[in-house]
Amino acid sequence: MWWQSEAGRFGLGFTSRAAGNLAHHAGSGDAAAHRLQLESELGVRPRAFRYLNQVHSAQVADASAATGTVTADAWISPSGSEPLAILVADCLPVLFCGERVDGSQLSAAAHAGRSGLLSGVLEHTVAALRQHGASGITAWIGPGACADCYEVPQEMFDQLTAARPALASQTRWGTPGLNLRAEARSVLETSAVTVFEADGCTIEDPDLFSHRASSAGRGPEGRFAGLIWPLAP
Ligand SMILES: [Zn+2]
Repeated sequence: MWWQSEAGRFGLGFTSRAAGNLAHHAGSGDAAAHRLQLESELGVRPRAFRYLNQVHSAQVADASAATGTVTADAWISPSGSEPLAILVADCLPVLFCGERVDGSQLSAAAHAGRSGLLSGVLEHTVAALRQHGASGITAWIGPGACADCYEVPQEMFDQLTAARPALASQTRWGTPGLNLRAEARSVLETSAVTVFEADGCTIEDPDLFSHRASSAGRGPEGRFAGLIWPLAP
């Protein structure tokens, strides 16, 4: 694991490249075997982690009601009993723990890249947690493309940062960039969510998969995961 922690009844973490490529749709390697190995190491029952068909939307799926292939970009587990997985390689994985006034806890996980952030995936995930009774919400923002590395064309920069100024950044080499992490933090804090970060840059850290780095011929294509799962009682 690249980073692992516990919060209340949940384990949470972000895998490293050492756990292998976990995506069927990108990169190479036996993703099914990598997923099973990961579950074995974390003490999660085989094939229990729920994965999504992610499309950079703001759609939140209820893991307790979902069957088969689910197309969405965030999961919620109202009972907290479903282990949740989000695949990324530059987009931000965001994990959530919600607590109700009776002390029960629920979980969620979101895929928040540029498109997802702009379409409101984090706002939708927080809203879903509140609809399911969460009064207090904590979020962990995982590693993604950092503000020093994430270059975009000037026209895109102008268009996106006008409405969401926290996104504005400049790359290390002085060109227009986006700060996904600052925008995610801004959205979550505006929604009264307590935010923690597992800070890291996928483009710079060779222990993580990066779509941008692999497209530039540096490192293999693949996806790592943001995970939240119920710990054994
Ligand atoms: Zn970076």
